[in-house]
Amino acid sequence: MLHPPRKKMKSKRPIDAKTGFDVSEDFERFDQRNEIYCRSEWDPEIKSEKAAEFFRGHYMPHARARKADGFSQRDYALRNATWHVTNVLRDVRRESDDRKEGFFDTFTSHAEGWPEPYAFDSAEAATRNLRRAAKSIGASLLGICEYDERWVYRTRYSEQTQKDKPVDIPEDLPYVIVIGEPMDFDLTETVPSALSGSATGLGYTNDTVILLTITQYIRNLGYRAVASMNDSALAIPLAVQAGLGEVGRHSLLITREYGPRLRLGKIFTDMPLVIDEPIRFGVKEFCDICQRCSAACPPKAIPHKAPSRVPHSVSNLKGVLKWTTNAEKCFRFWVGQNSDCSICIRVCPYNRDFRKWYNRLWRRLAGTRLRKLMLLIDKTFQPRERASAPQWWAKQR
Ligand code: SF4
Ligand code: SF4
Repeated sequence: MLHPPRKKMKSKRPIDAKTGFDVSEDFERFDQRNEIYCRSEWDPEIKSEKAAEFFRGHYMPHARARKADGFSQRDYALRNATWHVTNVLRDVRRESDDRKEGFFDTFTSHAEGWPEPYAFDSAEAATRNLRRAAKSIGASLLGICEYDERWVYRTRYSEQTQKDKPVDIPEDLPYVIVIGEPMDFDLTETVPSALSGSATGLGYTNDTVILLTITQYIRNLGYRAVASMNDSALAIPLAVQAGLGEVGRHSLLITREYGPRLRLGKIFTDMPLVIDEPIRFGVKEFCDICQRCSAACPPKAIPHKAPSRVPHSVSNLKGVLKWTTNAEKCFRFWVGQNSDCSICIRVCPYNRDFRKWYNRLWRRLAGTRLRKLMLLIDKTFQPRERASAPQWWAKQR
């Protein structure tokens, strides 16, 4: 396997004072082959026929539908349809060039742009322009941070050779645009179910379309831009640095707008932009007293204890003080139930409709000394029980 020499790199950065990231000297950049999905291909500890069936099940007629609530043929029919566009774009160069775009590799589905960069009056004007375009394209959340090599993978994974390959994001692209697309609230309420996997599929498909459109727009302006979804770099620390939210106990990003119900994408670019400031609205302090996700996680993959530097396995980032999910336990649960899970999203008190004023008030007070009361209110008035799939189908929208 290709292991590039470890570059001398500063593990701590000034931005950590704003994000609260605590990165130690023994920090190591992540190798993509250690992602649990990659390990399910090469690591005998994770690889199994059931895991292969889990991935095959995203295509009819391999879905292994059953009579259980939320796992019927119509539930899988919708879930697999929501993944379809993402899968088509993911596979455009899979056989020919060993690229699984959006998951293992950056996207390449771009047309040629303009040869010279458009002359904006200033970075502020360029940023306003970008935000206006992104809004019209449909981006729900957009933040901008500086390129930070700590969160870019050290190596990528080759599906065909099952070996490492170099990361192909140029290091001279100074900015990262992070976008977030919400997952459907009602679908998420039906988790665990194959039906709820539609919220994940739709999140990715919307992400893919919006990422590619914004990236093409930037290239059409004459700047360089590389679109990336789950591949090549860790989206969550970049999203935090781009001011989109904070990280919760369940290791997911929690945003002010959609709580943890979100899928992320990023664009690496040299378009001149103004970076955003990280935000803090009390998530860490709230998670310190709340354990709804750890209590609800069926395989007990989410820690009950304080943040730690000790990883569970190679699938976790080394050298960052944080709550770390046990990826093996989580993935085995997904494989066992034959669909992805987001129970930790469904039960999280920040999983609310923040268009409603009383939920915005709850969020504000949850960031104050009243957080214990806000947790009690959540437990009392938001039991966060699973909704049945037939009920979801019967709902008139
Ligand atoms: S996705 Fe499900 S199994 Fe995985 S950590 Fe969340 S609740 Fe646990
Ligand atoms: S469920 Fe509670 S502890 Fe878990 S991430 Fe949400 S707020 Fe934090």
